Amino acid sequence: MSSSASPYLVRVHDLIRRPGESRELELAFPAPARLGEALIAVEEGSTVEIEGRLDSIHEGVLVAARARATAVGECGRCLGPVKKTIDVDVTDLFAYPSEEEFDFHIHEEQIDLEELVRDAIVLALPFQPVCRFDCPGLDPETGARLEDHPELTPREALDPRWGALAGFQAESDEPSEGGAATR
Ligand SMILES: [Zn+2]
Repeated sequence: MSSSASPYLVRVHDLIRRPGESRELELAFPAPARLGEALIAVEEGSTVEIEGRLDSIHEGVLVAARARATAVGECGRCLGPVKKTIDVDVTDLFAYPSEEEFDFHIHEEQIDLEELVRDAIVLALPFQPVCRFDCPGLDPETGARLEDHPELTPREALDPRWGALAGFQAESDEPSEGGAATR
């Protein structure tokens, strides 16, 4: 017996067994738990907005909405802060219990958007977050943020293993396949 119901629960009693009926869906609440586990995540307490519509159809209630939240984390290159707006499509059918072939179901005249929204947001989180696409990262020798120390750039050999690769590229410099250009 939890004292407060999940904010992801939506009552749909007004849409049950009334195909053709529809109404707007608009929710905004603090995330009851962190969404994501990697370098970047939507923190607990951060606002989650869900906006769209609910349509009653023969098999259940169709949710067609967008979920929005702000993810924060660390740049994978320079460890600086990263902030990213996540805006994802959350569309799925919440079927009546008798409709077994669907993933989500209506329980006690309610639909629970948590799994649908959480999965969509987590999937949209960048795997390798960067503060900006051309973030120069850290100086390999001093660990200083190159952004703050322009005198340390340019510095090509970030990894000694690249030395051998660079030599290889120089040798095979003649025009080869050129796949990208001809496609
Ligand atoms: Zn960065």
